[in-house]
This record gives sequence, structure tokens and C-alpha cells, in this order.
Amino acid sequence: MIPALMPTYNRAELVFEHGEGVWLQTADGRRFLDFGSGIATSSVGHGNRHVIEAITAQLGKVLHSSNLYRIPQAERLAKRLVDASFADSVFFCNSGAEADEGMIKIMRRAAWDAGQHERNRIITFEGAFHGRTLATLSAAGNAHYLEGFGPKAEGFDQVPYNDLEAVRKAITPQTCGIMLEAVQGEGGIRPADLDFLRGLRQLADEHGLMLGFDEVQCGMGRTGKLFAFEWSGITPDVCATAKGLGGGFPIGAVLARENLAKHLVPGTHGSTFGGNPTACAAGNAVLDILLAPGFLDGVAHKGELLSAGLQKLVAEFPKVFLLTRGRGLMQGLKCATGTSMQMQRALEAEGLLSVAAGDEVIRFVPPLVVGEAEIAEALVRIRAAAAKVAAQ
Ligand SMILES: *Cc1c(COP(=O)(O)O)cnc(C)c1O
Repeated sequence: MIPALMPTYNRAELVFEHGEGVWLQTADGRRFLDFGSGIATSSVGHGNRHVIEAITAQLGKVLHSSNLYRIPQAERLAKRLVDASFADSVFFCNSGAEADEGMIKIMRRAAWDAGQHERNRIITFEGAFHGRTLATLSAAGNAHYLEGFGPKAEGFDQVPYNDLEAVRKAITPQTCGIMLEAVQGEGGIRPADLDFLRGLRQLADEHGLMLGFDEVQCGMGRTGKLFAFEWSGITPDVCATAKGLGGGFPIGAVLARENLAKHLVPGTHGSTFGGNPTACAAGNAVLDILLAPGFLDGVAHKGELLSAGLQKLVAEFPKVFLLTRGRGLMQGLKCATGTSMQMQRALEAEGLLSVAAGDEVIRFVPPLVVGEAEIAEALVRIRAAAAKVAAQ
């Protein structure tokens, strides 16, 4: 008989009852070092007092009002995101897929408003992940995820990642924009070459295209900058973010420059829950932590420690690990063909949570507040798991 909870996930037999910082504890008292963060989402750790206090204070005032009225918490969060980024204006939603949909809509509408009604196609990349809605599935073009959900939403042209020539060739008079992750997450922690990103900016400028980043996973400080594209020094036109923004509370956002944002006039887009006072209280509390002086530099430094440790393990276990790659606290370990599931189970047995990604990669995305000692402890556990897998 089908479970009451629809079986859309293969779930591990773990129930977490309590969390503190980088640690999660099961009902039967087992402690896990959480280097998965609920897929890069628990950005400021579990049981974060500052976030909990901000949410509970808001709950006691008004949990939900409506976008029919002014929401000061949303106005404040938007202003802070604008001040900290390239953007002039922010739209709030509730998830990553929804933020990507908003980014797609804003690009198409800007072209349409300019009288270029035929310019509605967006160039996207192989290995991308943009969420599970019909448009974002088509944008990412993963055949497996699309299977049985046709007809495919029109308007996306896919090319290989990190291949500027392929992008150039894919541009047609119908192209309005380019959309990509600065570090592909689900696709296997694949960072874009910084020169590729600079080349994309140049191509976009030459052809009058909009450049949009899906920063749902790699954004909100994950790589040691507020947004991962910042490593390339370029400025996008629009970006989508979500996962880490609420520290675990559901919230997503579309950040845009004025020349794009001005096209989403009243009636063009919306969301009942988007920018809800409680979600924005969570977002503001998370920003208090991320934007504190030195915090993001600390993330970059801890990312280097994790990366250096993983590189040593690749050298020590060449039969188990092929390579490591990533940026900041978004690191992947590519396992030998057919061993990534075995490795993930071995890590769980050592009390370390990770997340599988494409391309046989195991993803390590700890809360950004992780300590150096906890990174060292994680490396000890990864080493122990690798030794077991190597002996099998
Ligand atoms: C997780 C993810 C999404 C989808 O986010 P949801 O909140 O699950 O809808 C979109 N893009 C990227 C890069 C992601 O990692």
C-alpha cells in the first residue's frame, strides 16, 4: 500500500530530533556531523539562537499578512540585499524553482516590453539543475527528470557548460538571455571557469542579452562571497537565490537590476506567501550573520581547509576518489565509477552526513558556521570511510 506521504524520495532511515550547530541527533541518541545542511540550506547551523529568536518574535506579532499590504520585514530584507549586491530591486518567493521561474519571466517580459516579441529563448547548460517545475525542468533539460512529464516547456536551448564557443553558436535572433549556475550543484559541484563567466558577460553585452545566475545553491555566502558569480568580477542582470537565505525557513528571491525589475509591474507576477513577514524575519536574521565583518572571508578560509584536506584524501585513496573540486564550503569528491553510493553509506556509518550529486560526486556543504575543528573531524571520518571502502 502506498505510504500516506507520497514516495517521491528514497529516504534514509534516520529521524532527527534535535540539532545544534553542525550536529544533528536522532531520537535514539546517535550524533551526526552534518555536512549536508539539508542540501546547502541550514546555512547558519541548527538551533541558531539568533534566527530562532527573530522567527519567534515575529510569530508573536503577525505570522502572515499579505502582499496586498506593506510588509516592513520584506522591505528591509530587500534593501539589505540591494545594498550588498548588484541588484536594484528584489522579488520574494518561497523556493528555488520559483525564484528561477521569476528570473525566466523577468527576462522574457523585459524583451517583450522592448517590442522584441520573438525574443523569448534562453540559453541554458548541460548538467544544470533549476528545480522541479515544468519550466525549470525544461531549462535544465535533464532527460531523466523530464521523462513522462511532456510536453516540454518551449524556449530553452542547451549547450555544454564552460564552452563559450557553443554559447556563441547557439545565439539566434530569438535569444533573450543566458541562465546558469556559477557552481553547478546537483550536476556534481562543477564550478564555472571564471574566464568563461567573463566571456559570457561580454557575449551578452555584444548581443544585447540578459545574463541571469541561478544562485539558489551556490549563493548566500556558500562559496565565501555573497554570490558565487562575484569571484569572476562580473555583474549579472538578474539572479535567483533561495536555499541558504532563510537558514532553513522557506524563502526564495529574485534580485534584478532596475532595467529588468521595472518590467514586473503590478499584475505581472506574484506569490501569496512570498515575502511573508516570518520568512523575511528569518532572512534578516541570516543576513545579520552572513554580512557581519569577516564572516564571508572566514567561509572562504574554511573552504580552503576542507578542499586541502580532501585533496590529501584523493592522493591517499586513488582507487576510491578520482578528484575533488568546488569553491568555498561547496566541495565535491568524485568517486571511482560505481562507488559513490557505497561511499555515502560508509560516511553515514561514520556519523557524517553528505549529499550525493551527479557525476558520482559526494557533496560536502556544511553550515557556514562550521568550525575548523569540525572540518578536521569530518576529514577524519571521511578517511575512515574511504579506508573501509578501499578494503572492500
Ligand atoms: C535546489 C535548487 C533549485 C530548486 O530549489 P527548490 O527550493 O527545491 O525549488 C534550483 N536551482 C538550484 C541551483 C538548486 O540547487
